[in-house]
Amino acid sequence: MRGIEFRDLKRQYEVLKEQMDGAVFRVLASGQYIGGPEVSRLEKRLADYIGTKYCISCGNGTDALQLLLIAYGVGPGDAVFIPDFTFFATGEIIPAIGATPVFVDVDPRTFNIDPLSLESAIGEIIREGIYRPAAVIPVDLFGLPADYPRLSEIAKRYDLILIEDGAQGFGGAISDKRACSFGDAATTSFFPAKPLGCYGDGGAIFTDDTEIAELVRSLTVHGKGNHKYDNVRIGMNSRLDAVQAAILSVKLDALIKYELDAMTRIHTYYSGKLADIVQIPYIPERYFTSNAQYTIKLPDMATRDELRRYLRTQGIPSNVYYPSPMNRLRAFSGVGVSPVNLANSENLCNRVLSLPMHPYLKEAEIERIMGTVRVFLKGVGS
Ligand SMILES: *Cc1c(COP(=O)(O)O)cnc(C)c1O
Repeated sequence: MRGIEFRDLKRQYEVLKEQMDGAVFRVLASGQYIGGPEVSRLEKRLADYIGTKYCISCGNGTDALQLLLIAYGVGPGDAVFIPDFTFFATGEIIPAIGATPVFVDVDPRTFNIDPLSLESAIGEIIREGIYRPAAVIPVDLFGLPADYPRLSEIAKRYDLILIEDGAQGFGGAISDKRACSFGDAATTSFFPAKPLGCYGDGGAIFTDDTEIAELVRSLTVHGKGNHKYDNVRIGMNSRLDAVQAAILSVKLDALIKYELDAMTRIHTYYSGKLADIVQIPYIPERYFTSNAQYTIKLPDMATRDELRRYLRTQGIPSNVYYPSPMNRLRAFSGVGVSPVNLANSENLCNRVLSLPMHPYLKEAEIERIMGTVRVFLKGVGS
């Protein structure tokens, strides 16, 4: 028997093997390997599930964000507001197109971009008068949708483009509106370990905006016009392989049918076991998380690191997402701007720990993980 995995993709394959192999071999025999009917069918299904008019697949979640910034014409002189506590890619694409990332603090409970901090940052950028506030990219961190009701209001007030980074959010929702349908446009990633992952790289863009959808579609295929060799703008080569589309269609079924429910059950069990001894994930009312990560907040860095070591000795993997706030990453030095206090983000980096979370965890494994975490934390508390 294998040990506990942080996210067990092999076990998922074992369960889905028959359908998966069938889907992959069907593509191999089809002669159509990039784009084509397999990809169009998947895009249609994804758009229907999310509830947007359009879904345009592309090479990965990073390209998806960059394609949107290009499509909206964001560039030099523009400020793009992002949370200081997220994966590097959310920020990376901003200097890549010549714009300036502005780091904003996060809510200490949801870990998502804090609307008040966003407003302060916008105010500062306007006062300084160097950059033009152009866009905001909230992230659905660890699967929990950001506060879109308030964020949309702010975006509207300051005339900002709102792009949802739903790389981790796919499968989440606020009431009956699904993640990847918020803002002017949204993105997701099909990196293997994301809530909906393929067996390689992949990504997608969701929007109701016909003009943006057409522009993005053109940009993914070398800026094509009426046909592939009618190149009307500078684009990229960023497309989804047919094999990955076939894999995703099998995985989308599983996600909808039982994976999301299985993770919700594990989340509820974890939180029930831990609520009295540690800060558990906070899920606001009417919010649904896709459980991309189950992340607890320890009292301090020493306790966090000790718990991580202890879990490792017990054969339980855990991870720190993310060890460094964006504003401190060397890649952004001299490139990014931090006009507001980022205390919550700095604090979280020292204190968070993500525990194993995936739909194929077995009863005995779930109990062992909880038992081990509890033993450690009770020792610390007494
Ligand atoms: C994974 C991730 C991305 C990038 O997705 P890739 O498919 O790996 O390029 C962007 N933003 C966030 C928040 C992510 O977690």
